[in-house]
Amino acid sequence: MLVIGAGLAGTEAAWQVAQAGVRVRLVEMRPVRRSPAHHSGEFAELVCSNSFGALSSDRAAGLLQEELRRLGSLVIGTADQHAVPAGGALAVDRGRYSAALTAALEAHPLVTVERREQSELPGPNQITVLATGPLTADALAEQLRSFTGRDDCHFFDAASPIVEGESIDLGVAFRASRYDKGDADYINCPMDREQYLAFRTALLEAEQADLKDFEAESAHFFEGCLPIEELARRGEDTMRYGPLKPIGLWDPRWGDVNDREVRRANRAYAVVQLRQEDRDGRLWNLVGFQTNLKWGEQKRVLRLIPGLENAAFVRFGVMHRNTFLESPQLLDATLQFRQRSSLLAAGQITGTEGYAAAVAGGWLAGTNAARLARGLDPITLPPTTMVGALTHFVAEAPCGDGRGKGRFQPMPPNFGLLPDLPERIRDKRRRYGAYRDRALTDLATTLEQQGCAARTSSPHGQV
Ligand SMILES: Cc1cc2nc3c(=O)[nH]c(=O)nc-3n(C[C@H](O)[C@H](O)[C@H](O)COP(=O)(O)OP(=O)(O)OC[C@H]3O[C@@H](n4cnc5c(N)ncnc54)[C@H](O)[C@@H]3O)c2cc1C
Repeated sequence: MLVIGAGLAGTEAAWQVAQAGVRVRLVEMRPVRRSPAHHSGEFAELVCSNSFGALSSDRAAGLLQEELRRLGSLVIGTADQHAVPAGGALAVDRGRYSAALTAALEAHPLVTVERREQSELPGPNQITVLATGPLTADALAEQLRSFTGRDDCHFFDAASPIVEGESIDLGVAFRASRYDKGDADYINCPMDREQYLAFRTALLEAEQADLKDFEAESAHFFEGCLPIEELARRGEDTMRYGPLKPIGLWDPRWGDVNDREVRRANRAYAVVQLRQEDRDGRLWNLVGFQTNLKWGEQKRVLRLIPGLENAAFVRFGVMHRNTFLESPQLLDATLQFRQRSSLLAAGQITGTEGYAAAVAGGWLAGTNAARLARGLDPITLPPTTMVGALTHFVAEAPCGDGRGKGRFQPMPPNFGLLPDLPERIRDKRRRYGAYRDRALTDLATTLEQQGCAARTSSPHGQV
């Protein structure tokens, strides 16, 4: 059994394999070969922030952490042991945490650590977990590209922000497709001239995030996908001839939109469109709004768009180097490749985002790799759990033609991924609490059915 990459996902995967009694080789290129973002040779290094996100389990990140605790995650357990005060978040002393994980893996009798770059994808006879992350080394990335097909492997993430559908004001925004073609698939936020100009000014004045050197280099190759603030900079009307084009978008509330006069009299000056991101229509992305603005600035400026005044963001726009697969075309919810069931993928390379989400993928891929080695069927987790929702999302998200329109975008943990509750709960905190209760109950049932032992208490007493 082989695990490639000892990041967040690979460390968890290798541990789960070994704990299941299966011998595993863990291949990590650091420190022999450096990545452009990591600083050490330790496992599961946190490349930027030292936080795994909110601790409380009625928040999406906290629920994911809690599920992972109950699944016996080594990485989250070690994070708990090395936690530092962080005002309601799980943050760690990164040096101690990484050193402890490296020592645990190196000491495990069934784990052999190999410090080298893996340049080739192993053949089908070798059960392998691919966990090389957003900065997968070039030779392996090239191999992946020919294994999956050129269009099924992305190297740069220029993603638009995603908002919760229920936070969009449909008293202002309206559903329609351009020229009424097909179903009313888009949510449209209309602007008058004054609103448009104020929005453009805010975009131009907003603060940008710094691109790292290696990202600026990648961005250079990505001219075809300009950030919205760059479009705004190119001219007063550039956005109105691009993603904010108002032509052919008619609000049925105007009256008879077949009447040319009605259309002419009511036409918006500019329209921001949102496209459905998940199967159930709970998450919507702002079409053509890839951006380099700082996250706080995105929240402030995008809430100037009529209908998005109270938008709840589940993901902000980004433009950065990110190797990830067009997973819905390639993976099952077990994290096995459809074209080669002995090859599994985990972590950011599958299109999840964030530290804890990478650990979740590592847990599932490692568990399933071990099951395959022992002649058992691989498992999935229920989509009502956060781990299950993320893995089902990467396997099943709509991904359009895989290139431009409806392209698959990476996703962090969020409650919008979970199926609706049986009854509607208006109060957000109570609703999130109900999602949590259902997730933990369903997780316990699944573990019982699988005959796995689960830990039931949170070290932080947050449940
Ligand atoms: C600059 C930057 C900043 C980020 N900041 C944050 C943040 O603040 N918070 C957050 O939640 N997420 C952040 N992320 C996303 C973060 O990368 C993921 O959340 C997490 O690290 C993904 O875990 P992973 O295991 O998939 O990949 P990684 O943790 O990157 O692990 C992949 C491992 O594979 C190794 N590897 C790669 N190629 C090979 C090869 N061919 N052979 C052998 N080994 C190989 C790498 O050295 C690395 O150790 C950031 C990403 C980047 C690039």
